[in-house]
Amino acid sequence: MKRNNAWIDYDGKDLTQLTALAEDYKDFLSNGKTERECVRQSVELAKKAGYVDLDEQIRNSAALHPGDKVYRVWMEKAILLYHIGKEPLESGMNILGAHIDSPRLDLKQNPLYEDTEMVLLDTHYYGGVKKYQWVTLPMALHGVVVKKDGTKIDINIGEKEDEPVVGVTDLLIHLSGKQLEKKASVVVEGEDLNVLIGSRPLKGEEKDAVKKQMLEILKEEYNVEEEDFLSAEIEVVPAGKARDFGLDRSMIMSYGQDDRVCAYTSLAAMLNVEDPERTACCILVDKEEIGSVGATGMQSKFFENTTAEVLALLGDYNDLVLRRTLQNSYMLSSDVSAAFDPNYPSVMEKKNAAYFGKGLVLNKYTGARGKSGSNDANPEFIAKLRKIFDDENVAFQTAELGKVDQGGGGTIAYIPAAYGMNVIDCGVAVLSMHAPWEITSKSDIYEVEKGYEAFLKHCR
Ligand code: MN
Ligand code: MN
Repeated sequence: MKRNNAWIDYDGKDLTQLTALAEDYKDFLSNGKTERECVRQSVELAKKAGYVDLDEQIRNSAALHPGDKVYRVWMEKAILLYHIGKEPLESGMNILGAHIDSPRLDLKQNPLYEDTEMVLLDTHYYGGVKKYQWVTLPMALHGVVVKKDGTKIDINIGEKEDEPVVGVTDLLIHLSGKQLEKKASVVVEGEDLNVLIGSRPLKGEEKDAVKKQMLEILKEEYNVEEEDFLSAEIEVVPAGKARDFGLDRSMIMSYGQDDRVCAYTSLAAMLNVEDPERTACCILVDKEEIGSVGATGMQSKFFENTTAEVLALLGDYNDLVLRRTLQNSYMLSSDVSAAFDPNYPSVMEKKNAAYFGKGLVLNKYTGARGKSGSNDANPEFIAKLRKIFDDENVAFQTAELGKVDQGGGGTIAYIPAAYGMNVIDCGVAVLSMHAPWEITSKSDIYEVEKGYEAFLKHCR
């Protein structure tokens, strides 16, 4: 049962590949801080690997054949990729599914206001955050503003060295006596996560002069007017690039690694797989952090509908074939796991915790209390995966999210499982999960990408 630290077994070739993967992954993180930015990058990489737009195939009623590679983007915030296998789709697909949304602060619909000659943006946090972690950090604004005529303005401010950053202030320690007596959950309250963006008044103005100056800047530099915030989606995220962590450079620190670490490795595995027997599929979805809801979340019919479109272009669509395709599929719900943290050992049960350097993590179940809300994966499926990972020399471990009754969490796994397919949670261990800066191990990233590829090739 002893599992070695994967670093021990690496030769020069492994280390070269590991480093190349880590560099590409860091680029993906630094350039993908929103769902839309991740989708855009995924499309670029897919096109380079020979994928074509499924929507164009649908418009032209262009037939699909084994070996064909197609992608489909949904509302710019989710993407599906299919690499058609030699076997009929009806015998099932091998699916990798990850999410590309991450916890952050979203601007409210009416965000802009002036208070005591400072101009601020009001936010509403997205996903599970410890609010006190999001103050006194350099933050960037990413997103999209849609004008009334439909024109879209991409916003990306605070990432380049010479660009300004914004952020949320915190109370000075000298006056924090009362604040520090509060429970950590209310030390910084949600309504107080207001982003400071300016302090310079416009000359010759009596009222709201600082806000007026800001509106001039928004108009001049970005062509954005105050009313345009009504139809905008702007995410306030930690500013700065993903970078190596640790003096030995064995780890990566970045914003958004839950779940872009599994999204990127899923995509990489998908693009690397050649001539699959069973159709390979990769799903990168939005809204996991708030319950997988909405048109771009896993609960959307987007995946089912697109699979129907693929079947139709293969000349094989009917309702029964679609249902069989879905139920005969296997899926890795590619999501992160909590890494064992030596600073906080009390929340973990050591035999069933995930460790850095021990490879891909299989979570048979997630959930809270008595496994509530969990997709409890079948041992028959786990046995198949054990064999694949052992045969392909993939380091893996099994874990659950902390001690019994310590807390819990969920993923997208239970949603596709509703079609009757086998699904298991399978991903990378993360330290400081959901914090503005999360940490992963490069060796785990390397093992997970290998594991995902092995699954796409060999699961049947
Ligand atoms: Mn996740
Ligand atoms: Mn999460």
